[in-house]
Amino acid sequence: MQTTVTRPVLAPAGARTAVWAAVLSVAGLTAWLATVGLTDLLSARDLWGVIDASRSRLAGPALVVVVVLLLVAEQRWPAVRRPLLARAQLVDASYFVLFAVAVVPLLTLVETGFSIEIERHVSFLVLGRLSLVPRTVVVAVTLVAIDGMNWCGHIANHRFATLWRLHALHHSQEDMSVLTTFRTHPLAHATYVPAVLPALMLGASGAVPAGAIIVYGCLVTLPHANLNWRLGPLGRVIVSPAYHRLHHARDLGERGTVNFGFVLVVWDQLARRAEFPLGGPPVLTGIAGRPVPVEQAGRMPHLARVVVAQLAQPFRRCSTLDGLLTTEGRR
Ligand SMILES: [Zn+2]
Ligand SMILES: [Zn+2]
Repeated sequence: MQTTVTRPVLAPAGARTAVWAAVLSVAGLTAWLATVGLTDLLSARDLWGVIDASRSRLAGPALVVVVVLLLVAEQRWPAVRRPLLARAQLVDASYFVLFAVAVVPLLTLVETGFSIEIERHVSFLVLGRLSLVPRTVVVAVTLVAIDGMNWCGHIANHRFATLWRLHALHHSQEDMSVLTTFRTHPLAHATYVPAVLPALMLGASGAVPAGAIIVYGCLVTLPHANLNWRLGPLGRVIVSPAYHRLHHARDLGERGTVNFGFVLVVWDQLARRAEFPLGGPPVLTGIAGRPVPVEQAGRMPHLARVVVAQLAQPFRRCSTLDGLLTTEGRR
């Protein structure tokens, strides 16, 4: 399925200058939900137990093993050959550490706060037990729905200037590897929190086992690997590295016009935003003009300074970034 690339729609000048201020609102909302979650978990005296359980699901040994295996595969079958300790990988590895140490606890608090507010204000969304539906079906539907919600979140990250500011860091990587999965602004992670809704709505009929969440998390890491794998017929169902690389293409003229899927490609197909790789050399990735500071710029920028500058970028004025929004106008 092909798409037609159209020019980006620029946000009005006034709106552009206010984007960084709107990013502060996202930070405020995140802090509020985290506070609600923290208060609840502290009162239940279960704070560290819940965070540890989250960490073992989202950044536990299984994920580390998959990441290491993919790093080995990248050395054996690289889409783009590069040293194992390339600057890009060192920076993205630091994002993995940030994810495991700080983002997972933050996300746990935010998700807890989000769930509490949903049950408090829109409790009708939380369904009772569906006794006629087998548990395995409920779990499968929940996982597919979570993937669909992640797709919606990703689309929103490209559609709205405020969210794009946070998502641009992920797209700034010019040397992708499996570690690029974690090259994400902490506040951008928070934009995917509504993906917990399916589990919240259907939880009474069957909670998703931790093992299934771990497998889903491992499948999410595969698309960023520096591999030109298209996965054969399976690549028509799940997101392959070559498929997702097209989403990161530098030379489309606008950001992220196609291939928004996390694990399943069906959402892109339904929205006519799927573009399957045809083979050939891998496309260049990154953002033209480098509006987000990147580790490849200059001679030898201090990597810690680069990371700090990247994390601060969403709060700064940058009309180049704001002009690179995904347009409504594609077919
Ligand atoms: Zn990506
Ligand atoms: Zn994207």
